[in-house]
Amino acid sequence: MRKYLVFAVLLYAAATVFAQTPEPMKMKPEMTEIWDPEIRVVTPGQAPSDAPSDAIVLFDGTNLNEWTNGKGEPAEWTLADGCVTVKKGTGTIQTKRVFNDFQLHIEWRTPAEVVGESQGRGNSGIFMQGIYELQVLDNYNNRTYRNGQAGSIYKQHPPLVNACKAPGVWQTYDVIYTAPRFNEDGTYFTPPTITVLQNGVLVQNNVKMRGPTEYIGIPEYTVKKHGAGPIVLQDHGNPVSFRNIWIREL
Ligand code: MG
Repeated sequence: MRKYLVFAVLLYAAATVFAQTPEPMKMKPEMTEIWDPEIRVVTPGQAPSDAPSDAIVLFDGTNLNEWTNGKGEPAEWTLADGCVTVKKGTGTIQTKRVFNDFQLHIEWRTPAEVVGESQGRGNSGIFMQGIYELQVLDNYNNRTYRNGQAGSIYKQHPPLVNACKAPGVWQTYDVIYTAPRFNEDGTYFTPPTITVLQNGVLVQNNVKMRGPTEYIGIPEYTVKKHGAGPIVLQDHGNPVSFRNIWIREL
């Protein structure tokens, strides 16, 4: 009997406490709306390939004022017909400005006259921060090693698909790049990551770089702490052309 009494008292106490618990506040739509700060306005270009209002135009076809050669001297590549073309033997060209995280648009064209095969056909490259290469190559009916073809992060990540247009036809790369953050000892805290669309087709989906691009050797072995770096275009001896280059710092 006593047991039932204790139980009844406890039940009453619990019911009393429960009855006193306030109802949770009823949510309204505006409770989860964030208004400030207002989103910055960027005016897009006419076409998606045109520079938006907040882009830095690195090359508009008229001059190479934003570029130097690898020694800091004027860039020597051929400027004609609204594009700039690799002049064999003059070496890389690079932006005077340096960048960390960015969105980059760049258009490229391999020679209409097909010469060579595999890595010897329409080879150039675009280096993020001067050391991470996104391969430029004519892979239209041209086999090469998969992690060295157009759209690859050279010798690290093969492209998801081969989205190459024919030789002599302009192609686009749209790149979203996040620079690495470093630990005190110079190793990556977060490695660089990159997303690439080639001609509007996704070829790299937020992949992590293993280290700087190495022609021979293991990228992980050469990771070194670095700061902002230029966009570098490669002279691989083939007359590859570039045009309409713009960048948005992120
Ligand atoms: Mg290359």
